[in-house]
Amino acid sequence: KEAMITIDGVVVKANKGDTILKTALEQGIYIPHLCYHPDLKPFGGCRLCTVEVEGRGLTISCKTPIKEGMVVRTESPEISKVRRIATQMLILNHYADCLQCVKSTECKLLSLTAYIGIDQRLKRVTSALSIDDSNPFFLRDPNKCVLCGICVRTCQEIQGVGAIDLAFREYWKQWKKYQQGSLSSTDLIAQGDKIKIAAFNDKPIIESKCESCGECVVRCPTGALVAKNRLKPSYEVKTICPYCGCGCGIYLGVRGNLIVNVRGDPDSPVNKGNLCVKGRYGYNFINHPERLTTPLIKRNGNFVEASWEEALDLVASRLANYKGDQFAIMGSGKITNEEIYLIQKFARAVMGTNQAESPARVCHLPTIIGLTESTGSSSMPFPIEQLSEAGCIIVAGANTTETHPIIGLEIKRAVKRGVKLLVIDPRWTELAAMADVHLNLWPGTDVALIMGMCRVILEENRHAQDFINQRTEDFASFKEAVQNFPLDFVEQVTRIAKEKIVDGARIVATFTPGAYLYAMGTTQHTHGTDNVQALVNLALLTGSYGKLGGGVAPLRGHNNIHGATAFGAVTHLLPGYQYVTNPEHRKKFEKAWNCKINPEPGLTALEWVTHRGKVKAIYIIGNNPLRSWADINQTQKAFEQLEFLVVQDIFLTETAQMADVVLPAVSFAEKEGTFFSLDRRMNLIRKAINPIGDARPDWWILCEIGRRMGKGFDFNHPRQVWEEIRSLAPTFAGITYERLAQQGDIYFPCPTEDHPGTKNLHWTEFMRKGGKAIFKSIEYKPAAELPDEEYPFILTTRRYLSQFHTFTRRERGLNELINGALEINPKDATTLGIVSGDMVRVISRRGEVQVKTKVTDSCPAGVVALSFHFPETPINVLTNAALDPRAKVPETKVCAVRIEKKA
Ligand code: SF4
Repeated sequence: KEAMITIDGVVVKANKGDTILKTALEQGIYIPHLCYHPDLKPFGGCRLCTVEVEGRGLTISCKTPIKEGMVVRTESPEISKVRRIATQMLILNHYADCLQCVKSTECKLLSLTAYIGIDQRLKRVTSALSIDDSNPFFLRDPNKCVLCGICVRTCQEIQGVGAIDLAFREYWKQWKKYQQGSLSSTDLIAQGDKIKIAAFNDKPIIESKCESCGECVVRCPTGALVAKNRLKPSYEVKTICPYCGCGCGIYLGVRGNLIVNVRGDPDSPVNKGNLCVKGRYGYNFINHPERLTTPLIKRNGNFVEASWEEALDLVASRLANYKGDQFAIMGSGKITNEEIYLIQKFARAVMGTNQAESPARVCHLPTIIGLTESTGSSSMPFPIEQLSEAGCIIVAGANTTETHPIIGLEIKRAVKRGVKLLVIDPRWTELAAMADVHLNLWPGTDVALIMGMCRVILEENRHAQDFINQRTEDFASFKEAVQNFPLDFVEQVTRIAKEKIVDGARIVATFTPGAYLYAMGTTQHTHGTDNVQALVNLALLTGSYGKLGGGVAPLRGHNNIHGATAFGAVTHLLPGYQYVTNPEHRKKFEKAWNCKINPEPGLTALEWVTHRGKVKAIYIIGNNPLRSWADINQTQKAFEQLEFLVVQDIFLTETAQMADVVLPAVSFAEKEGTFFSLDRRMNLIRKAINPIGDARPDWWILCEIGRRMGKGFDFNHPRQVWEEIRSLAPTFAGITYERLAQQGDIYFPCPTEDHPGTKNLHWTEFMRKGGKAIFKSIEYKPAAELPDEEYPFILTTRRYLSQFHTFTRRERGLNELINGALEINPKDATTLGIVSGDMVRVISRRGEVQVKTKVTDSCPAGVVALSFHFPETPINVLTNAALDPRAKVPETKVCAVRIEKKA
């Protein structure tokens, strides 16, 4: 695998398959280059890396693989001549206003020109080209572009988007002719304005399919692509992205007490330096002028500013009147694990109730219930980076390129490498367009489809019998249950042609193991838990568990929603997935906390609303139920009847406006602690700036209230809270702040300090006892609310790549990228006489929303889709709060509506 070559008289060891340039750079031998980038395939466009190979002559080193015994010279008069001409060509039309250029200190062209030594510039042959400033985050200045193609290749090879290309390619043909000697350099230069980087049809970039991820800006070697925000940081702080559950590593750029930029952490195993648009540009909420900066107490219907002493004393004295199940507390998927732990400890040890919840109750509780029951663990069994090891990726009810963009990238890469892709989604998504089969089921019919696929696999004898014998239970009853799903029935219910269902079943049975990814399209149903367990059935039937990249993988939404359940903000769970109903588990916590824990889980979050009057005081932390819970009007009425409401947040949300006391919290950038990613990586988050105004970390506020009302809250730093967690939750016991600081990501479970962490969860002691998973015999149940004459459409919810509720709404640029519109199929639009941009009233049994329309065949006829990001169109006014009987998650993915065009 190795070869010896000679570079400039020095014999060096090289890896076979590597190029001359890569080898030289690794050996510390500089060869000038511009279009080469280590993240991208070699391009050979700039010709600056020209070298001389004995017996071969001049060659470009970035594209030439090394061979045993190769002799390379990196300098000679001919090489210098080629490099000088190439450099003159590169700078020919380049502006010379380097002092004003924001990239001047890092411009590769400047340093190259100095290295190669250009004594004169050729006469410019193009006139000034117009600058494209249509994107809210970056400028494209073609006058500084050197046509290295790095941006084009980044967009294609890394992002898989292809928004831009080398347009007007005639020039490259001329370049080849020049190399072959059939064109003079003067004639070549005359062609200099014939080529440029352009979006489709040479339109502004904002009108292209550009995702604004900024990866091209990061890699551009000159000032052709620059961020509009020109502030440079004085230092950087390593931490974790505050948006989705991927848990990308980032560096926050700090100047004074301002966050001025974000860059990806190249050492992160998940994003390897890449970021999506939110992660890179969505940081303005941190220093936003609307941040809450002082405690507020409502007096005579108006908020008045208060001191911390006053506000904390008031909260503690009022809450003392609501001990037991009259009290409930709601945490967030955005706060730290330590803060989640304190929330549930406060509820259980001080208030005497288990009614501590988090937004997992409106998304992934079916995962906790269904996956745990079927396999013993509710976590993703393999790390994100293993996706390409799967034989087939199944994406069910997840618009991954928008909701979990970095995983979306991994899927696109895996597909490029030949991994099969099956998408189960009523809507046409970016991944559906790439899929081998897109099973576009009618909303809410997942169980029928998946059990029908299981039946096909069994009938065609494609199931993994050995695996089933060794690793599963209850196969016989499952085989009987699938008899309820003949293909005629499945076709009629799901509205997918039988042949397509068979195709899908054969793919998952043939290309194993399957990586079964799912998100809220699977869980937010009255049968969400059944949907999850149906996917496990399919994974077991195809023998997908126990192999790299195989198994059922829940894609959790918020950055720390995994932590919210793992550290006990669920009525039935104590920290570390221990059970309130288990006397042994309770006993351990009772001893440590010196209290009695209520053995009854109590009411779940949406039941605080439906069982109106039972819960009299609520404490909401980093959550906005008046936007995110189904059937907002019902929620609002229930909150109006509360006797005491405390809201702790960074902005005055709709829910905060109803509160008796508002406590200003800090963002992730102003505190320390840990986040738990969707693929079980524990990470440290680090403080980058001081709290804004008089805001305080959630952990500090909880300790102050806890201290006023009870014992066990004398913590001065999140590290002390973590130490208590480790002592009570054995599966986290091996993770320490010191290890995290030194090692970075540690995979859960990690029971001892000498344990490396568990990258693959299959059949370890952390799964079901005995190492066997269970087949579940599931019945099909339709959605709770189906279309009828009065409400003939199904409304489903969707997400957008650039949006994430409260935070992204504070970033003007992100809002410029997308406006929420009601998606409607062209057939339905024609029937209703609607064109894109028309305003319509969307009316359900619970309320009405007015919104613009977008006519698109992304939605099947009979289905309309709307996002829940935008306060102007609060979709949860319309949604149905009917609950999954096991997970108590509302059915926000299906409700019946009618559409009326506004006059
Ligand atoms: Fe942040 Fe998720 Fe985007 Fe990564 S993929 S940068 S974690 S929002």
